[in-house]
Amino acid sequence: MTVNILFAAHEKRWAQYETPLRTALDAIGIDYVLSTSHPPEDVDYIVYAPNSDVQDFTPYTRLKAVLNLWAGVETAVHNPTLKVPFARMVDAEGLTQGMVEWVTGHTLRHHLGMDAHIVNPDHVWTAEAPPVAADRPVGILGLGELGTACGQALAALGFPVSGWARSAKQIDGITAYHGDDGLREILSTSEIVILLLPSTPATENILNAETLSLLPKGAVIINPGRGQLIDDDALIAALDSGQAGHATLDVFRVEPLPPGHPYWAHPKVTVTPHIASETRPPSASRAIAENIRRGEAGEPFLHLVDRDAGY
Ligand code: NAP
Repeated sequence: MTVNILFAAHEKRWAQYETPLRTALDAIGIDYVLSTSHPPEDVDYIVYAPNSDVQDFTPYTRLKAVLNLWAGVETAVHNPTLKVPFARMVDAEGLTQGMVEWVTGHTLRHHLGMDAHIVNPDHVWTAEAPPVAADRPVGILGLGELGTACGQALAALGFPVSGWARSAKQIDGITAYHGDDGLREILSTSEIVILLLPSTPATENILNAETLSLLPKGAVIINPGRGQLIDDDALIAALDSGQAGHATLDVFRVEPLPPGHPYWAHPKVTVTPHIASETRPPSASRAIAENIRRGEAGEPFLHLVDRDAGY
């Protein structure tokens, strides 16, 4: 029987995804029709982005799964009409690789103190070498697909890496913590803190006045996770007091970051416009096709979202 697949992400994504999706779907050997406009009652799978026009899944009566093109699912996970399996994107070649490169680059920038030599209008000769990575403890909040890959890349460079997750873990190269005590431990020892948690009620404002006060003075915060993880006023106060040395932020509560937001002009904040990593159409298409193959073969879907946990 023909499998009907609705592509329900933004129009400009269709131009990027149509060919790689067809290539990946051809490779799994199913009879399919991929389109941006199937009658809802005929649709078996939806390739989805949470900013899609499709917000009410009720008319999709034979839907088997919704397959997200994004890793973050917070704006779709609590949709009461989305009752079928909902898979998020895990894309090692695009999302994960991009995040590893962005996090490693920004960590090395702060570790090596590169800014002092890039912008040096008075031509000051400060012959002070930075410490080696082994002397710069790094903490990663979130040890999922992205946090683990970033942590292991930093550990391979020699950084002592600690990480924090909801569950207990054993990960090569990373000292893993969980629970409130684990959070306190990791924050009180990390000179660079990287946020790779999802946005959920439990993680909102995880960096606040109290938790920021645990950090070693002058610690650097790098946030490619979600804007909701940070209490913005508390972070600005910590930067102003010197408790935090710098914040490199890729994600914000409101995006694009509004003109005039204090982050834009703050001398200790680097703003990047939600570009830390992006799904890569060829590999993401293979991930989507693999889940459709699984669905048709009666095998469990990969990377299902836990609706209760919210990620
Ligand atoms: P993931 O695989 O679902 O990992 C999430 C991690 O967070 C897991 O280790 C999880 O713990 C931990 N966690 C969740 N809730 C927690 C809590 N209450 N306390 C402690 N730990 C908690 O997600 P991912 O693929 O690594 O992606 C992480 C986030 O990165 C996404 O949600 C998205 O917001 C963001 N992202 C940003 C960009 C960008 O360009 N800036 C791109 C992609 C993704 P367990 O392991 O115990 O479940």
